Amino acid sequence: MEKFDWKNLPFGYVKTDYNVRCYYKNGEWGELEVTSSEKIDMHMAATCLHYGQQAFEGMKAYMDKDGKIRLFRWQENAKRLQTSADGILMAKVPEEIFKEAVVKAVLLNKQYIPPHGTGAALYIRPLLLGSGPQIGVKPAKEFLFMVFVTPVGPYFKEGFNPVKIAIVKDSDRASPRGTGHIKVGGNYAASLYGVNKAISQGYGSPMYLDAIEKKYIDEIGAANFFGIKNNTYITPKSTSILPSITNKSIMTIAEDMGMKVEQRAVPVEELETFEEVGACGTAAIIAPIGEIFDMETHKTYKYCKNGKPGPVSTKIYNKLQGIQFGDEPDKFNWIEIIG
Ligand SMILES: *Cc1c(COP(=O)(O)O)cnc(C)c1O
Repeated sequence: MEKFDWKNLPFGYVKTDYNVRCYYKNGEWGELEVTSSEKIDMHMAATCLHYGQQAFEGMKAYMDKDGKIRLFRWQENAKRLQTSADGILMAKVPEEIFKEAVVKAVLLNKQYIPPHGTGAALYIRPLLLGSGPQIGVKPAKEFLFMVFVTPVGPYFKEGFNPVKIAIVKDSDRASPRGTGHIKVGGNYAASLYGVNKAISQGYGSPMYLDAIEKKYIDEIGAANFFGIKNNTYITPKSTSILPSITNKSIMTIAEDMGMKVEQRAVPVEELETFEEVGACGTAAIIAPIGEIFDMETHKTYKYCKNGKPGPVSTKIYNKLQGIQFGDEPDKFNWIEIIG
């Protein structure tokens, strides 16, 4: 498709030709439907609209140098959507329906998959909505599962370059026994204040600390945090963190590269001791962090002193993107070629 400037694609919505939908009614899932409409016809009392009964996933399809289309660890996304559905009392999408819908949405929009070598990919957005009407606070009896796709460039306009992060303490995205560990829209609504606060003051994302003591690192906006020191990859453990599939994959790669991996509580003061820090998730894969500014104490932690991402983050990033784009062997069996 010539109309796209693939290398300068933003991380935003671009209309594609088709999306795929499946309705849950009378206790069962129906047949997949394909539509080219960008609109949803929904009851005004649907639970997703009033009570946030909604969950989603984010994944990518990559084109390799032979023009083959590669899905990365889709089973993990299917499983996580089921965990999210359980967490807020929605009907679970069976793995077969999840896969069929994702594959269909990607293949029907093949012309929108960015070519190999552009660094861009096809973003896939599965969405599960409580679509049945309720006015009392109760789970819906009907659900809509849908999948749409959109071609995306890098999440941060800087690309694989250091970003600046601000520690925001006057707002929480999630609580220890809340819904932080599942991928529901409500967490994103709760994060908008912090995101806006950080961005309006020139930072790329907020860093959230644990909601109770404000002592431990939780997440960076909608991405997991990691720090590297002494040949060790360290990432926070907390009940309010969303288990990132990118982070899980990086832990496997780091171990394979001979590093130690620690998943544990990470106190903010430990930021002083890291050689490299970063954020990770499907959108950015890895965003190296150059600076963390505490908006309350005005303390600044600096990394990437030469303005470049650290060597270990770079090595891990190249390895993971290499596997995703098919330039490295798929040694962990993470890829499924779908077309
Ligand atoms: C989706 C998400 C992530 C990243 O997860 P991936 O599976 O790596 O894309 C991290 N944190 C939050 C809060 C998220 O919603």
